[in-house]
Amino acid sequence: MTISQELFQKAGTLIPGGVNSPVRACKSVHCDPLFVASASGSKLTTEDGAEFIDYVMSWGPMLLGHNHPEVAAAIAHTAAKGTSFGAPCRLEVELAQAVVDAVPGIEMVRMVSSGTEATMSALRLARGYTGKNGVIKFHGGYHGHADAFLASAGSGVATQSIPGTPGVPADVVKHTLLAHYNDLEAVRALFEQQGDDIAAVIVEPVAGNMGLVLPKPGFLQGLRELTSKYGALLIFDEVITGFRVSFGGAQAAFGIDPDLTCLGKIIGGGLPVGAYGGKRKIMSHIAPSGNVYQAGTLSGNPLAMAAGLATLKALAQKDYAALAARTDAFSRELENILHGKGVPVTRNHIASIFTLFFTETPVVDFPSAQTGDSKAFVSFYQQMREQGIYLAPSGFECAFTSFAHSEQDFERTLDAARKVRF
Ligand SMILES: *Cc1c(COP(=O)(O)O)cnc(C)c1O
Repeated sequence: MTISQELFQKAGTLIPGGVNSPVRACKSVHCDPLFVASASGSKLTTEDGAEFIDYVMSWGPMLLGHNHPEVAAAIAHTAAKGTSFGAPCRLEVELAQAVVDAVPGIEMVRMVSSGTEATMSALRLARGYTGKNGVIKFHGGYHGHADAFLASAGSGVATQSIPGTPGVPADVVKHTLLAHYNDLEAVRALFEQQGDDIAAVIVEPVAGNMGLVLPKPGFLQGLRELTSKYGALLIFDEVITGFRVSFGGAQAAFGIDPDLTCLGKIIGGGLPVGAYGGKRKIMSHIAPSGNVYQAGTLSGNPLAMAAGLATLKALAQKDYAALAARTDAFSRELENILHGKGVPVTRNHIASIFTLFFTETPVVDFPSAQTGDSKAFVSFYQQMREQGIYLAPSGFECAFTSFAHSEQDFERTLDAARKVRF
């Protein structure tokens, strides 16, 4: 048995399923998880001492690469001065300023400790602000694991085919209305039927939890117009796309002005951070300036703020266009290699994100994402892993590149793909 297998066996007796977040168990690819001992740049090293080129990057946060020297130094420097005060600190103001400067739709921002908290709180604010209850989300969209969003969700919920999940009362999700991503007419119909009780539309402006799915031209603009017309808020869940699709997020890239924006992943530079922000007149409704309650013992703690701030400072200097072009060329070559083996494959790409779907159907929403051949995906995943390439263990996830990925990493990955047999 490998050390990873031993640890996983022990973990299974102590932690449900042996993991602290379901997808990590690698169940849908019929593998045991690898236990990671350390990570640096584009690489992971397992407890067994094996090195992998990483395309999961902690599910998105590590856009600078693992253990980036400036981020690591900021964490060490700050930790020496205490890790949580439960009182305001300077770094919170500095990170808030950096976020407001970077993200066009954010005039005020509140820090929380995860993406789940960010979306949950943004929805509460939208309901408190509008006095309405309904929320429209999209099939295959994932907004963390708060009850209201666990209807037809993506990410781990997608691969596990949990229809929603036990434990969420029907009374709670009855306010959650569903449409297919990129289907503006369905959203329009929902507003026409029950627009007087819809508080918000929440959307990943570029969907990343059913694999990568891009918005069709006019889709996001249409959501902006419909929400404005009916007095509902447009919430952009930019937990993946924020600081990744561009430094100002997808909203900067697509030129759309949402009312509220949720952030997570990158904003914490690898520490547990989320944030939600938006228009001053809406954000002022949050306690204590307003009466919509939301709080957090560890929110805005100096350690997390320092990691986030160092990350944003370093990212501000980076050439996003160059990484996008390199990721495009790399993922296109990967697609060509698979084509050459007679495997159906459809590639979606933006910035430093891509997904290869094992289907010939263009992937524009959750049903088309589900046409992927999961057997082919599992075989690809397993053979790449045997060759030291660490991909997300699900066909409904993104591959992430980082500023630490080298051309040599890409070449090694392509060489591995050339050796895969279907
Ligand atoms: C990961 C993710 C979340 C949840 O963030 P957590 O930090 O895992 O709670 C929410 N929305 C999107 C789009 C995500 O990708």
